[in-house]
Amino acid sequence: VTTTEGPGELRWNRVLRRWVVVAPARAARPLDQRAPSPDDDPGSLEGCPFCPGNEDELPAILMETPSETPPGWAFRAVPNRFAAFRDAAGTEPAVPWVRPARGAQEVLIDSPTHLGDLCSMEPNALVRAVEGWAARYAAMCERPGLTRVLLFRNRGPMAGNSLRHPHAQLIGLELDPPGMRARDKAFRELRRESGGACPLCEPEGTEPDFQDRLVRRTPHLSAWVPWAAEAPFEMWIAPRRHTPDFRTSMEEGLGGDLAHLLGWITRRYRDAAGDPDYNLLLHSPGPRDPDPENLHWWIRLRPRVGHFAGLELLSGVVVNPSSPEADAKLLREGDRNSGSPRA
Ligand SMILES: [Zn+2]
Ligand SMILES: [Zn+2]
Repeated sequence: VTTTEGPGELRWNRVLRRWVVVAPARAARPLDQRAPSPDDDPGSLEGCPFCPGNEDELPAILMETPSETPPGWAFRAVPNRFAAFRDAAGTEPAVPWVRPARGAQEVLIDSPTHLGDLCSMEPNALVRAVEGWAARYAAMCERPGLTRVLLFRNRGPMAGNSLRHPHAQLIGLELDPPGMRARDKAFRELRRESGGACPLCEPEGTEPDFQDRLVRRTPHLSAWVPWAAEAPFEMWIAPRRHTPDFRTSMEEGLGGDLAHLLGWITRRYRDAAGDPDYNLLLHSPGPRDPDPENLHWWIRLRPRVGHFAGLELLSGVVVNPSSPEADAKLLREGDRNSGSPRA
């Protein structure tokens, strides 16, 4: 029996072979997409639990990155008050197709500024946010019992964002979703078929005419529109050197590079691509994967324009109404309004 208290309940759909989280507690979460009015204090919006001064509404502060400027912090990690996945003791269910939604859930507050966004944050603030994501990601990977740690960011209501204040999310799952397991298996098979070549550090060997869709290369990273992009301006970002796990990446000086690249891409989204809502999705091996060496972490930026309709829901085949090559060209070359992309 599910309640509005405690964790959600995982139910296995035996026909569709998918897990569903039944989580009535999620219905109680605050929804706030309104823009502040001139009467609001721009530094702290009344009723926003992530704004400075509203700490009473936070269950705890798990981590804070200090800042020299008011309000004295740049990044915070807090527990998710409306978590679907939680630490939960209890008896094992009698049947395998239902279980408590055990896990952990955090909110990563990217900035103290309510109207902040990746495309408008100061470069140093963006670096601290990305380093904060990486630190909390690594810390959650250490928690016993978790099979998957998911880091993502929902930007805008079309992407499922419920609170306007800039934030990312972290969810640790005890369960290994079949879709993620199948994706890792396919990645390893692709490498075997390609004689060991990695499709993410050597995308030239996997994708036809890769240079046409390459948007930007930085010292550590490549960013491109994939050959089979599912949405206009979809982008993949991956380390240029073979790097299996996101956890170890920041040690290699990659955090600053990633922050600058995300700032650049999201400004291109804003200035050249119609400012779409999007999801930022980190793909990285499970923390207890026995063979991470054959995987390679990457970030997918998935704009949310248009809806999944009958074709997509029935077949899983997605229609992209845009040309990946034309999208890459536009992102790369700028337009008359915004000038050339900034270095
Ligand atoms: Zn706020
Ligand atoms: Zn690789």
